[in-house]
Amino acid sequence: MVLEKSRTPLRLMEIERPKPGPGEVLIQVRACGVCRTDLHVVDGELEHPKLPLVPGHEIVGTVMEVGSSAKWFHVGARVGVPWLGWTCGECAFCLSDRENLCERARFTGYTLDGGYAEYVVADERFCFPIPQSSSDAEAAPLLCAGLIGYRSLMKTGNAKRVGIYGFGAAAHIITQVARYQGRMIYAFTRRGDAEGQQFAKSLGASWAGDSESLPPEPLDAAIIFAPAGELVPRALKALNKGGVVVCGGIHMSDIPSFPYESLWNERSICSVANLTRRDGKEFFLLAPRVPVKTTIQTFPLSEANEALTHLREGKIRGAAVLIP
Ligand SMILES: [Zn+2]
Ligand SMILES: [Zn+2]
Repeated sequence: MVLEKSRTPLRLMEIERPKPGPGEVLIQVRACGVCRTDLHVVDGELEHPKLPLVPGHEIVGTVMEVGSSAKWFHVGARVGVPWLGWTCGECAFCLSDRENLCERARFTGYTLDGGYAEYVVADERFCFPIPQSSSDAEAAPLLCAGLIGYRSLMKTGNAKRVGIYGFGAAAHIITQVARYQGRMIYAFTRRGDAEGQQFAKSLGASWAGDSESLPPEPLDAAIIFAPAGELVPRALKALNKGGVVVCGGIHMSDIPSFPYESLWNERSICSVANLTRRDGKEFFLLAPRVPVKTTIQTFPLSEANEALTHLREGKIRGAAVLIP
């Protein structure tokens, strides 16, 4: 499925099977998750996609062909392709273990063609082996919702009481990880989303309520996955002294002003950008131990537009996954 122009539906097109470059692998896509970032790309909120573009950066597939200098994966291997598709390896960020901030980074399904397709090529150095504990479709959301969720959770340090605003794909995965680590989760959903609140509790959340409400006790940290800037001052109000608000999304509406008192006492706000390969290594070791179980809703690849619409309307429980 191809995006030809922002703010238009994806089009089903015949694409030639790509050839892998020297360090690349050709992958037959078995499943590709639908991420909120894909919505931001299609809706034109992320302004610099390659066009035409095949979206999708939560890819699980099988290696069909390896490039002349590729050496890490063999034909037939099961691999995952994440959002971070390439980094330069030489800028100040790459050289200081922060390749997620690389000046010249390329991103799968944004500046590189992604997984809303039957085949994709990827630089093998940025692919991950996928644990056998889950099916292709169940594993797909781990590639972004899982990885970015994990990086967001790590940004909370050793916070014991963690609030999560926006209980979608990332939240449903990271709640399981947080519970495994002995933390308590407070889930905030859209107002009146009783089903979503029930879903959060079924995954181990100690409390679930509307995003307008305050939790029963102050939080040590809050992670915001919903792209709504007004949640930042609300989350600050829910924090204990020294707490952090982590903004886990790539795009957010403007943050309204708030009194300094909300930030006083060493509260802080930070964002999470992209991922590093180290995050991936850590997360894919951890996920089978938890073990993380994803809740998915599958769609045939040809219904990518319908899947995006469901996500936009908040109708997906867990994660949407496309099956070619
Ligand atoms: Zn770099
Ligand atoms: Zn994503």
